[in-house]
Amino acid sequence: MTDPRRNIPRTDALLSSFAYAVGELGTATVKAAIVAAQQRARAGEIAPSEVASAVAAALPAGPRRVINATGVVVHTNLGRAPLSPAARAAIDAAAGTTDVEFDLATGARARRGRSALAALAEAVPDAGGVHVVNNNAAALLLCALAFAPGREIVISRGELVEIGDGFRIPELLRSTGARLHEVGTTNRVHPRDYADAVGPSTGFILKVHPSNFEVTGFTSTVDIAELTGFGVPVIADIGSGLLAPHPLLPDEPDAATALRAGANLVTASGDKLLGGPQAGLLLGDADLVERLRRHPAARALRVDKLTLAALEATLRGPLPPVRQALEAPVEALFERASALSTLLRNAGISADAVRCVAAVGGGGAPGVELPSAAVSLPAEYAESLRLSETPVVGRIERGRCLLDLRTVHDDSLLLQAVLGC
Ligand SMILES: *Cc1c(COP(=O)(O)O)cnc(C)c1O
Repeated sequence: MTDPRRNIPRTDALLSSFAYAVGELGTATVKAAIVAAQQRARAGEIAPSEVASAVAAALPAGPRRVINATGVVVHTNLGRAPLSPAARAAIDAAAGTTDVEFDLATGARARRGRSALAALAEAVPDAGGVHVVNNNAAALLLCALAFAPGREIVISRGELVEIGDGFRIPELLRSTGARLHEVGTTNRVHPRDYADAVGPSTGFILKVHPSNFEVTGFTSTVDIAELTGFGVPVIADIGSGLLAPHPLLPDEPDAATALRAGANLVTASGDKLLGGPQAGLLLGDADLVERLRRHPAARALRVDKLTLAALEATLRGPLPPVRQALEAPVEALFERASALSTLLRNAGISADAVRCVAAVGGGGAPGVELPSAAVSLPAEYAESLRLSETPVVGRIERGRCLLDLRTVHDDSLLLQAVLGC
């Protein structure tokens, strides 16, 4: 019987497969990770076939560029919206000294991020005022701090949402000292429930879009328009950041429609369907926005110059990658899958173009299925693609590794990655 330890990959072979890391981290760091992984294999802690992935796991890693071939358009674990080339260029320009709070015409101090805010106001003409904070959670926090300290936020039980990683909107709101006045049941709420709840201690009514789940069957909800007559502000958390209705996502709320229905404020994320940087957008009545802007906590929640630059470029620039991925016609995707599969088969790889179903993701449009097309590879490719120089994340379906092209923006890079495995 041969000693399995003889199969432990050699140092020089591992060094050449981790050549990219040597370039970034230097030989000594990579070699140390290799030697440590080989020792673990010699000690029998891991199999010789696991040495390469142990090295990859042990290398100190900054964020890596990853190809999203999962078919999930807004993938939270892969950094949500990939930025457009225009937004990347704007970040690069703003990274040095920049006029974020300076008026070049007069040489005087200017309102921070005024051109980004102007772009947002132009994109949503129904909003009397706009403000930008760190993310949508920060937008909700600021609303609660400004409008409901020691007071009540009226919210439907069907809208007490956990947004992910264990974070819950009701707990976030309570952390400000506001009290929640829950109305209705999990499946049904009526206008009279809100009417009974609103009183002198109400800070505002909050509508939260149940963006990452669906309740079906015996259900009823109350529209924004039915909540506007109670004499208290109505704030709508629309989640995904659509500024106007989108024809492919008829059930996804948008800022313009919510404001026209009578919401006094809308909150949304910048890095979901808007396709921009992580940000929390606040849009609505000018006087309420001014109170948010002037609240002491606004300073702690403000965004940096890079975010402002990327947001403005997203709003003013060409269609961002998220929207391209959402709107790509399925036949064009299938053609790309066929072309890639042919090239891969010519290189001796068992690849096929297949039809599949992609998703919006990012806690948005949970019921929407996007027809899509993928390159189908043997399942073993999933791991080697993840560990490759430009990591590719696909998905396993019926024993095959699918690379869904709806979320891939550079086919030649994907081809290189597969050929490199
Ligand atoms: C995603 C989401 C949030 C959280 O937004 P972040 O920008 O991640 O803070 C809050 N509410 C709803 C409805 C969401 O969909």
